[in-house]
Order: sequence, then C-alpha cells, then structure tokens
Amino acid sequence: MASQDLPAAFGFLASARPSGGGIPQAAFATRGTHTGVGLGLRSQTLNATLVHAPGTPPDSAQARDADTAVLIAGEIYNRDDLYSVLGPKTEQAGDAQLLLDLLHCYGLHAFRLVNGRFAAVVSTGRQVLLATDHAGSVPLYVCAGPGEVTASTEAKTLTGHGGPRGFPFADARRVRGLPGVYQVPAGAVMEIDLDTGTAGTHRTWTPPLARRIMDENEAVDAVRAALDRAVGARITPGSTPLVVLSGGIDSSGVAALAHRSAGTIDSLSMGTDVSDEFVQARAVAGHLGSRHREITVPTADLLRQLPYAVWASESEDPQIIEYLLPLVALYRALDGPARRVLTGYGADIPLAGMHREDRLPNLDTAVAYDMATYDGLNEMSPVLSAVSGHWSTHPYWDRDVLDLLVSLEAGLKRRYGRDKWVLRAAMAGLLPDETVRRPKLGVHEGSGTTSSFSLLLLEQGVAEQAVDAAKRQVVRELFDRTVVAGEDPGEVSTADVVRSVADRLERGAA
Ligand code: AMP
Ligand code: MG
Repeated sequence: MASQDLPAAFGFLASARPSGGGIPQAAFATRGTHTGVGLGLRSQTLNATLVHAPGTPPDSAQARDADTAVLIAGEIYNRDDLYSVLGPKTEQAGDAQLLLDLLHCYGLHAFRLVNGRFAAVVSTGRQVLLATDHAGSVPLYVCAGPGEVTASTEAKTLTGHGGPRGFPFADARRVRGLPGVYQVPAGAVMEIDLDTGTAGTHRTWTPPLARRIMDENEAVDAVRAALDRAVGARITPGSTPLVVLSGGIDSSGVAALAHRSAGTIDSLSMGTDVSDEFVQARAVAGHLGSRHREITVPTADLLRQLPYAVWASESEDPQIIEYLLPLVALYRALDGPARRVLTGYGADIPLAGMHREDRLPNLDTAVAYDMATYDGLNEMSPVLSAVSGHWSTHPYWDRDVLDLLVSLEAGLKRRYGRDKWVLRAAMAGLLPDETVRRPKLGVHEGSGTTSSFSLLLLEQGVAEQAVDAAKRQVVRELFDRTVVAGEDPGEVSTADVVRSVADRLERGAA
C-alpha cells in the first residue's frame, strides 16, 4: 500500500495557556475533518483543532514529551538530511516528531535546517514558538496577551480571540481589520513569552543578495538537479501526482520531472470562454503521455469566485488576487477525492520571467524587489486548493531551488534574447521544442482574468484610469466581508460589491 500521500494536517487553530482552557473551534476556509487535541505539559497546556484530509489521521502532525509539544501543518521535504543529523532511530518519525527531535538537538535554531512547506507551533517551558517555512508559504497568524497565545493558519479564525490587549509585535505585519492579529513573517520563528505576551523574532532564512557566476553548462545542470530533487521530494512513492498544466515552461518542466519521478502523472488545464492555453498544454500532455483533463470555466462564473479567492488567500493585493482567481476556480472545479497537486507557480519571481526586456540591471532590480516584498502576499497559501480539499505544492519555491535561482547572475536568466533561459535550457530534451521556446503567458493573461475583471468594472461605469483603484477597493471590501466579518463567500456577490465600488467612485468623482 502506498504511504500516506497528504500531509497529516493542512491547518490548525491552537491556543497555549499556563493551564486549562478548552479546544478552540472556528470555521476554516480549509476543507477537512476537524480533530481536537489537548496537550497538558509540565509548564503549559496546548489545545488545538487540526484540520486534515478526511480519512488521513492527523497523528503525525503532533508530537510531545513532558515539557514540549509540536504541531505542524504541512510537510517537510529534506527529511533524509534531517534524519542524517539525528541518527537512525528517528527514521520512521512523522514530521512533528522529527521537529521535536531537532528542537532537542538545536533549540529554536532547528528551523534553520528545515526545507519545507509548513507552519508550526511549539509549546515549551513557558514559551511558545511560532515558525514559518522560508517562504512563509503556509501563512501563520497570532494574537497574544499575557497568559494566552493563540495561533492559526487562517486569520479569520482569530476573530474573537484578538483585541489590543497584548503588546504590539514590532516585527510582524498587522492584519487590517482584525485588532491584535499579526502575521508571522516568512522564514522566521517568533519566540513568545507566555506570561508577558512579548515576543522576539528570529529569522531562519533570507533571500540571497549575492549573485553567483557559473558557466552555462554548470548552471543548467545545477538547475535541473535542484528542480529534480524538489519535484521528487514532493511525490509520494506509489501515488500519482496531479500537475496543473498551462503548457508554459514552468508547469511543463514540473510535469516532465514529475512524470519521470512518479512514472505517471495526471494533468489538468483550465480555460475560460474568453481564453485558454489548451493547445499548448495538450502538446505537453501528449508528449509525456499524461492522463490529461481540461476544464472550461465561463468568465461570469470565474468572476463570481472572487470572494472565494480573497477568503482563501486572505490577501488584499489586487494583482495577486488576479493571479490566484483562475487557480481557485480550477481547484474548486476539481471534484473528487483529495489530491496532491504540483504547480509551476512562482518560477517567474527568482527568474524575473515577467520582465520582458534585455537590460540586466532592470532584471536584477525586479528579482531583488520581488524577493524583498513577497512576504504577506500569501500567493502560495495551501488554502487556495484546500478550499476543495486538495494539497498544493510549488517546486520552484523549494528552499534549495529558490536559493539557487535567486542567486544566479542575471545574464543566465536572460540570455540569447530568451526569458528564463537557464530553466528553458535545463528542460530541453524533456519537452517538445515549441514548449521550451514558448514565451511567457501569465495565468491571469492566459485565462483572460485581468481583462474580464477590468471589463466588469468598465461596464459598471468605472473610468478607464480608475480601474486599478476600483480593483483595489473591490478586493478590500471582499476582504472585509469574508475575512474580517466572516461572511460565507458563497453569500457575497461580486456583482454587488463591484456596483457599490463603482457608485462610490462615481460619487467621489462628481
Ligand atoms: P503562470 O502565471 O502562468 O506562471 O501560472 C502559475 C502556475 O499556475 C503554472 O505554472 C501552472 O502550474 C498553473 N497554471 C497556469 N495557468 C494554468 C491553466 N490555464 N491551467 C492549469 N494550470 C495553470
Ligand atoms: Mg503561464
């Protein structure tokens, strides 16, 4: 039988107190079974609700001894490396036990060793540690005051737990509309004193600032090897992964490597009635021999799902929401049992794939800017697919892949007039030539999302030059309703929100 294909937990709401307290409960966007855990330790009690795939026991998402408890949502990708420093007896341990063993060995510096997609809470002595992976790819939120620390993978579940009773956290981003709620930074451990509610923040990862010079072959081999390892680490032996495939180089590269690693893959493409990339995706699916499926979402349906995209991502960035909307629509259309989904998301950030010109200074400026500002955008949040029960993962944002891609000198990223040259060269031979050469098309473009959203606003009388501002306001209002006020996204009408924003803009302009 195949080993468990999905993480033991997708998310959690956890509350630490000196003693006592009940299991905290809340409504999550993450779909799954809720399991309560109460862990009475020598110096504190940690109560939590774990959200996990139905039929997948959440046992390995928790571990404890007399004085320390660990909860993890998500998964670790460098288990073998970690086992090697801990010795053979931990070989069979789940991810939470692995973290507990690492904590005994390294203290909170344990998190510097981990390459994963996770958020974790650790209760130890009279302290609570809140840890994110290098990318903050599983968002983690906290509100704390003297005598209680509450943490969750979804900000919306902290309403009612918040309130400006603790000290403000200088190092964490405040969540607008939810007083007392902060987002734990990416690549960090917040160390909170349970008695005072005060915190110190330790960075465990930071994007490389230096650039490495490699010759072409060396760079191409390094990229291929790193990506191959990252894809392999994201596949469960004996299970068939699903790759969301646009037919662009990023997702096609993942599909090719996953196919080699797993022996077989399923692939899925989405389009709208306005636009799709079906022909290009089909070429890749045909080349690999994947079991391929296409889903067409009518544009009106796509736009109706805006509240879901905001509710799931808890992001207020309108541009990010445009990238995420077609993917949320895709995941919501993907019925059936929970799947492990691999995506090509995020390759453009370290490789400046959206940068469409030759000048290298500008290219590296784009990389440096994007790597300095991704935190808090939540574009890789697992909740996006977990709203329909699926677990998504992003090999290009594997810690080792990202370290390598960011650090390559810009001339390897843009070369011979090609964007993402080093990646294209690394995938040549695995994919059809036309796929390797195909220029970048963002998912918001390939699905017509950006233009459809703009059109919706223009039709409501928003002036052309006010479209971006209107999008910002629409997303903000959706955030206020679905995240802050906790409205069911299915009850929130995109059309109504767009109309009220358009009216407000018109009144403001008059
Ligand atoms: P992009 O903005 O094109 O880089 O898209 C990011 C990722 O989303 C891709 O690497 C794919 O995994 C996925 N994706 C983009 N467009 C589609 C599509 N039309 N159908 C399925 N998956 C897609
Ligand atoms: Mg694309």
